[in-house]
Amino acid sequence: MNKKTFKDVEVTGKKVLVRVDFNVPIDENGKITDDNRIRAALPTINYLIHHGAKVILVSHLGRPNGMVNPKYSLAPIAKRLQELIKRPVKMATDTIGESAKKLTNEMENGDVVMLENVRFYKEEEANDDGFSKDLASLADIFVNDAFGTAHRAHASTAGVARYLPAVAGFLINEEIVSLTKAVEEAQVPFVVILGGAKVSDKIGVIAKLIKKANVLLIGGAMAYTFIVAQGGNIGMSRYEADKVEVAKKILEEAEKLNVKVLLPVDVVVAEEFKPDAATKVVDAYQIPEGYQGMDIGPKTIKLFKAEIKKAKTIVWNGPLGVYEFKKFQKGTKKVAKAVAKTSAVSVVGGGDSVAAITELGYANKVTHLSTGGGATLKFLEGGILPGVEVLEDKK
Ligand code: AMP
Repeated sequence: MNKKTFKDVEVTGKKVLVRVDFNVPIDENGKITDDNRIRAALPTINYLIHHGAKVILVSHLGRPNGMVNPKYSLAPIAKRLQELIKRPVKMATDTIGESAKKLTNEMENGDVVMLENVRFYKEEEANDDGFSKDLASLADIFVNDAFGTAHRAHASTAGVARYLPAVAGFLINEEIVSLTKAVEEAQVPFVVILGGAKVSDKIGVIAKLIKKANVLLIGGAMAYTFIVAQGGNIGMSRYEADKVEVAKKILEEAEKLNVKVLLPVDVVVAEEFKPDAATKVVDAYQIPEGYQGMDIGPKTIKLFKAEIKKAKTIVWNGPLGVYEFKKFQKGTKKVAKAVAKTSAVSVVGGGDSVAAITELGYANKVTHLSTGGGATLKFLEGGILPGVEVLEDKK
């Protein structure tokens, strides 16, 4: 990566403001149900502590819409972090106010302070200059380690960099290096697997990767827009009517470039969009009236697996079915297993695909599990990530 990282600057004795992504799932009892994002920030945090920096952490949690809402307090996360790093984490009751100033002024080398949810202020998402300046005034150096929000130009991801020397954390560096390497140095066959809700979210990625990939496997709801483009009957399946033409163009382009596109040949359908809906397997191009596609079928799984098996490089983003309903996780889980079993360089991004890999215990079987959803897609399509763009270039 051509950006400076936390290892390129002197941090000892300095107040280092670290933008982390601690947007973890918390249940109704305030319990953290998955602490992976906190763990992902540990390499940067531990490095800074061991190098005698004063570590000030800032993150968002949920969507409090610019208002203070105790439901979205970062206090439970500070507690969890304290257990993970085995040292005290002081929790501020605000982000740029008296509490934040007091706690950050009292810091000794190696101390850790967590600021309150930065999205309690509407100025955060507005990338307000005054707010960015106030946030920056708490520290001497800014480290951005929140890859998941790097595609957003907010005060705590981009704005603060106007007022502080700004460098990348471990996680951002690793994400950029791994994603770049997978795509730029892809070995053939290069198989791209795309699923999820909408074609519209993935057009940019398809447009970019179709020029490099050999095989494109498409599942999830987005497959139905392609099936309509080919004249299939999709019953009540979810699709995007205004993207049928785009889907046609993608298929034509793929043919010209000699990229093999595989769409589902059979699908698991249901009459209702419900977790316990009765199901049957039908031809993907002849879905009966009143039924909707919920997952890829067994023949499709077999076809997809055969391509995955041959792959030398795999990029996967998005579930192949309605992953939030257990009954329709099979396609995604079988694909996860197939990806984990190959010796290909594999990069997996997006909430549900990453969940499938981790729930099955395959996290260490893939080359890179991306922590970003939108940020990963934006990067793969060659877009600029404002939270990375603002960091200092390596000389
Ligand atoms: P994305 O945010 O693009 O990764 O898409 C994830 C969403 O796609 C999940 O909420 C899934 O329920 C949805 N999805 C995947 N397959 C289908 C399908 N066949 N029908 C409806 N929704 C689907």
